[in-house]
Amino acid sequence: MPITRRDFLNGVALTVAAGLTPAAQAEAQSRRRDAWLWGHTRTGYPPALTGLRGHHRGSFEVMHALVRDRDLFAVDDTPIEERYDLVVVGGGLSGLAAAWFYRRVMPRARILILDNHDDFGGHAKRNEFRIDGRRIIGYGGSQSFQSPGSLYGPAARDLLADLEVDVKRFETAFDRTLYPSLGLSRGVFFPREVFGRDALVAGEPARRNADETARKLSNARPLHEFVADFPISDEGKKQLLALHAGERDPLPGKSVEEKRAVLKRTSYRDYLIKICGCGEEVANCFQGRTLGFFGLGIDAVPASEARDLGYPGFDGLGLPRDGNPAWSEPYIYHFPDGNASLARLLVRGLVPGVAHGDTMDDVVQAHLAYSRLDRRRNDVRIRLNSTCIDVRNAGDVVQLAYVRRGRLFRVQARHAVLACFHMAIPHIMPELPERQRAALSKNVKTPIVYTNVLVRHWWPWIAQKVHTISAPMSFHHHVSLDFPVAMGGYEHARDPAQPICLHLAHVPGAPGQGLDARTQFRVGQHQLMTMTFRQFEERIRDDLDRMLGPGGFRSAADIAGITVNRWTHGYSYVANTLYDPEDYEESVLKVARQKAGRVAIANTDSGGDAWVHFAIEQADRAVRELVG
Ligand SMILES: Cc1cc2nc3c(=O)[nH]c(=O)nc-3n(C[C@H](O)[C@H](O)[C@H](O)COP(=O)(O)OP(=O)(O)OC[C@H]3O[C@@H](n4cnc5c(N)ncnc54)[C@H](O)[C@@H]3O)c2cc1C
Repeated sequence: MPITRRDFLNGVALTVAAGLTPAAQAEAQSRRRDAWLWGHTRTGYPPALTGLRGHHRGSFEVMHALVRDRDLFAVDDTPIEERYDLVVVGGGLSGLAAAWFYRRVMPRARILILDNHDDFGGHAKRNEFRIDGRRIIGYGGSQSFQSPGSLYGPAARDLLADLEVDVKRFETAFDRTLYPSLGLSRGVFFPREVFGRDALVAGEPARRNADETARKLSNARPLHEFVADFPISDEGKKQLLALHAGERDPLPGKSVEEKRAVLKRTSYRDYLIKICGCGEEVANCFQGRTLGFFGLGIDAVPASEARDLGYPGFDGLGLPRDGNPAWSEPYIYHFPDGNASLARLLVRGLVPGVAHGDTMDDVVQAHLAYSRLDRRRNDVRIRLNSTCIDVRNAGDVVQLAYVRRGRLFRVQARHAVLACFHMAIPHIMPELPERQRAALSKNVKTPIVYTNVLVRHWWPWIAQKVHTISAPMSFHHHVSLDFPVAMGGYEHARDPAQPICLHLAHVPGAPGQGLDARTQFRVGQHQLMTMTFRQFEERIRDDLDRMLGPGGFRSAADIAGITVNRWTHGYSYVANTLYDPEDYEESVLKVARQKAGRVAIANTDSGGDAWVHFAIEQADRAVRELVG
């Protein structure tokens, strides 16, 4: 028999109190210590919370319980308490944009936005630290606009215009010369477990696509000098140089089309080893370099994608250059808190009185009154810590149920936009046709962790002449100084004696085991859910001490704060030519995002890639489907 909402509340409390194993008790004790050590505060200001954030405790339990047992929630017995024009499920950029577009059509519409986190913005989250009376701002997820001039369509451009975001402003806000002027470059770290000894090699010459630093300012060394310092065999170095030189065609006798087909069906790792004749140690120099973009190492990234991103080994093929517009602009379109500023701009516009100011600059430092997000008098209410568990069409209305702080509630609306993860939708809306539910379930999101480490100074980076480190075989595949962006009176550290945020990225998974992308993501999701903050902290200290220790870094003295943004469900799934059919857009995405009655479906998942502009454009489409 389904339990009542009071039983549910008590049940959860009892499970938590009575069900602790000795290991769980130790974990709880460790968390209490973390809370003390890292200054967990329950200030009512989520960006200032440190420790384990992202998909934080309290945000995922209800959804996981629903997946295990739908009957836990006595939806039918719960009265409808509120009525709206639109209910949006998911307070990320797509959900907030959907509310914005709906209000464009119906300016007086009453809207409720539900999100399961204690902060709005979805992946677009802000992290803050305080040190020596200064506030240091960082980004916890969604980082920058990628090539907005080339990629952003009318809906995204119009929304930016509504919010008075002028992307040209970043040309002066982002200081592209600061790190080069200090002699810093990109470097690569080789860990001793794989390469025999720890080595950080600075002065990387390879120019990344869409690099923020002009090539002539990159403090790069000639390729042969750079490779000479790698801790690999002479034969490996020869292979690497030949790969870059691209003088030999590794697929002789094949036509352009045949070559393209091979690249689509071969992983970059197999391409390097089986087609280009490189050894394992050369492949290891690239293994994790694709993690930040695909959430997959080169064993699961098609060679065609590696070519598109500018990895070596393709020049000898003689293929025509394709020119991807995604890489046509420098990577400078970044607020100090990343795309969280876009979320804050949307919230400031949707909920009057929540924050002062009216420019893209002043939003950076604006105080945001979280207590005003969900006031009765607001036309738009943002209700946090609220997990939607049921959505159903009922004649000319939609009824939705959600759980907040252990209690079940029901609301009704003329329309609903589901801007939450696609894979959650079959569980909350069982009335959808089986084919659509199956298509939605294919969107297994990439697990990824963005960590901000506050350090008291950055002299070790100067000593080792790097601002960004790629670490293709380490726990953190990417470690860098924060982007040098100053806006709205917020100043980025310019002096190495000043505190700064370090950005560390980690992608879990099971590389090299022949698993497909979705299976790797599921394995990685499980790994993230079982890691404690203490375990993350150990890996952070270990990687930083080993990468920067020779420059004088001492984690025990230099680290002043850590926020681990754990995104168990990170980037949207992107069709992968190694595992998915060519007609993925038609056969999966279009089926998944179909409107059902008065319910439309948004989120970047609907667009098939993890981009801000997809979040916005899919919100625009979803709202058009509902109100024209
Ligand atoms: C680490 C990271 C870095 C990124 N960097 C970039 C970048 O630099 N540039 C770029 O363009 N894109 C980037 N992205 C992609 C990012 O996903 C998009 O930019 C955008 O923020 C996604 O917005 P969204 O609203 O579609 O989804 P989300 O941000 O995921 O928002 C969906 C919200 O719905 C909530 N939700 C889910 N289920 C429920 C439920 N049942 N009830 C209530 N709420 C629910 C979720 O918890 C979440 O808060 C990045 C993503 C990650 C994870």
